[in-house]
Amino acid sequence: ELYTSKELFLVEQRGYEIADLLGQGAFSVVVRAVEKSTRTTYAVKVVSLEADAVQHEVAIWALLKHVNIVQLHAHFPSPRFMFMVLEYVPAGELFDHIVSRKFYSEMDARFLMRQILSALEHMHSRGICHRDLKPENLLCVIQPANDALGDSIQHVKISDFGLAERFVRNQPHAMSRRCGTPGYVAPEVLRGHGYNEKVDLWSIGVILYILLVGFPPFYDKSDRELLRKCEAGVYSFPSPQWDLITPAAKDLIENLMQIDVAKRFSASDSMRHEWIALPHRPSSDHL
Ligand code: ADP
Ligand code: MG
Repeated sequence: ELYTSKELFLVEQRGYEIADLLGQGAFSVVVRAVEKSTRTTYAVKVVSLEADAVQHEVAIWALLKHVNIVQLHAHFPSPRFMFMVLEYVPAGELFDHIVSRKFYSEMDARFLMRQILSALEHMHSRGICHRDLKPENLLCVIQPANDALGDSIQHVKISDFGLAERFVRNQPHAMSRRCGTPGYVAPEVLRGHGYNEKVDLWSIGVILYILLVGFPPFYDKSDRELLRKCEAGVYSFPSPQWDLITPAAKDLIENLMQIDVAKRFSASDSMRHEWIALPHRPSSDHL
């Protein structure tokens, strides 16, 4: 309904040619569009103005500029929608790459984690907490396959600031709204006594866990049970999948998925961890 709507005519009026549909969420439609004057391809995210947080999403996104964060190029409202013109990230969600690859080597996971942590350091230093980090919100740029290993990810970029919030630094209870995604959400968000930007580091720990073995630390068919497990925050490194993973990788996960928020690593702490400092893929010096 939204896609065929005459509202998209407004995008054309602004000088973009609409190419195709990229994604569709509960409150948004994302289309690929080419700016006529420059022939540059963008992704245009169209969000109903009825979603009360959309002004907020734009204001926050505009504060961020980092190679590993999807760049907001322009934005304009219509009576019913907000249009966000975003940097186009061609290879889709990290989620789909994990599904097709099953899991990543420590070297490849390290290459991705460095980029994600660097983006998070930038975001947190500007007082912005993402609150919904997960492989669906990490978009990829790939290097075409040139060997039997297949496509390899060149850049990963954090996207979707729909749940992002500004926070005051050094406050243990800067935020309180219960939000996020079951499986990735930090225990203190569910416990309901307030939380700070460290919730993003917990989610990064869950993502690293999944990258290394291809299955999540918390799982249950019932969402209620899953949330109960996430709130308890108790997980393990089951055999045999974890047997060959190095102690350094497990140590980083334990410092990210640390229930005690004061002890949990910040983005900068994580960047200095021994596992992150080890070499990544021998042939990839993209950054
Ligand atoms: P929602 O808030 O509905 O989750 P997202 O911002 O996550 O919206 O976008 C939905 C989907 O659209 C993404 O998961 C992705 O597949 C696609 N998409 C979003 N932004 C881009 C982009 N900049 N480049 C390419 N595809 C994108
Ligand atoms: Mg999303």
